Amino acid sequence: MAVERTLSIIKPDATRRNLTGAVNARLEAAGLRIVAQRRIRLTRAQAEGFYAVHRARPFFDGLCAFMTSGPVVVQVLEGENAVARNREVMGATDPAKAAPGTIRKDFAESIEANSAHGSDSADNAAVEIAYFFSGLDIVG
Ligand code: GDP
Repeated sequence: MAVERTLSIIKPDATRRNLTGAVNARLEAAGLRIVAQRRIRLTRAQAEGFYAVHRARPFFDGLCAFMTSGPVVVQVLEGENAVARNREVMGATDPAKAAPGTIRKDFAESIEANSAHGSDSADNAAVEIAYFFSGLDIVG
């Protein structure tokens, strides 16, 4: 399996509870290397742009309000099969359905405030990484 990169976001519910290090420990223990990382406060326009694919969904407004409610940590993860690996470590979208030992099972507050984002395909990872980082920001 090839070395890949994926975009991860530690969401506002996790930064508010001071869980950045705890989430990062899970990622690193899973063999994912944090090769870029920045703590930012998303604007409404930035959140809407990032989640544009969900614009028609009933939860879109709430999701954008949540994602702008506090700081997030955007990061690029690198490793073997990184896209799928990060999705495994995060767990299912709904923490009630997430497997034991996953980030969302252990840390998420709700299906919306679910602590972490991870790209769902290599193609989307490339687009999402470019949304937040330039090549010079990524140090492998
Ligand atoms: P992900 O790839 O597991 O993050 O899930 P999606 O791409 O389907 O959804 C993006 C984000 O929207 C999720 O991580 C949640 O924060 C939020 N979300 C997804 N489904 C729901 C829902 O049914 N209700 C609410 N309130 N938020 C949701």
